[in-house]
Amino acid sequence: NDFEDFYLKRELLMGIFEAGFEKPSPIQEEAIPIALTGRDILARAKNGTGKTAAYVIPSLERLNPKKAQIQAVLLVPTRELALQTSQVCKTLGKHLGIEVMVTTGGTTLKDDIIRLSQPVHILVGTPGRILDLGGKGIADLSNCGTFVMDEADKLLSPEFTPVVEQLLALLPKERQVMLFSATFPIIVKDFKDKHMVKPYEINL
Ligand code: AMP
Repeated sequence: NDFEDFYLKRELLMGIFEAGFEKPSPIQEEAIPIALTGRDILARAKNGTGKTAAYVIPSLERLNPKKAQIQAVLLVPTRELALQTSQVCKTLGKHLGIEVMVTTGGTTLKDDIIRLSQPVHILVGTPGRILDLGGKGIADLSNCGTFVMDEADKLLSPEFTPVVEQLLALLPKERQVMLFSATFPIIVKDFKDKHMVKPYEINL
């Protein structure tokens, strides 16, 4: 398989090749065509397998750069991972004309408010801060059709799960949920049963 076989936008393909990716990794080969259809995805995947691009590529393909709306939320457990993930979005989406914002705890809300007065297409961050922004109406999540949880086993701790669920309630009913996790504890299975629709499951 080749990246060309996914029929991606030319601008996205350019970003992928400029990043030095030649062929999709196994998780990308399996996840990308399914994710492009909008179906929910539940993937067991370790770090280093190319899982970030496996959800970033379809998220980028499916959003409309002409609409200045938050169309994807990428949830991660730490600030460091949020910065890394946003960098992948920026690199792969370099020619798409999209704006990526990172938001996590430990920074002032005021900076986020200022940033959100400018267009944002993809919001990458940790659950508490994104819920804060969405719940207060600072970030409009009503057009966010893509919701990704990376390292979901870390995101879905007993104290974080209600935060994630409140966040999901701010998204439109029609949305794609993609969940990536190294392990599948009961709490992840519960989340799947409650919030995902016929997810395509990947076990690599
Ligand atoms: P990840 O598992 O998302 O942390 O990615 C691990 C590393 O693999 C990162 O440095 C990526 O830039 C790289 N990578 C991801 N997909 C590909 C690909 N298709 N070809 C070459 N390198 C890749």
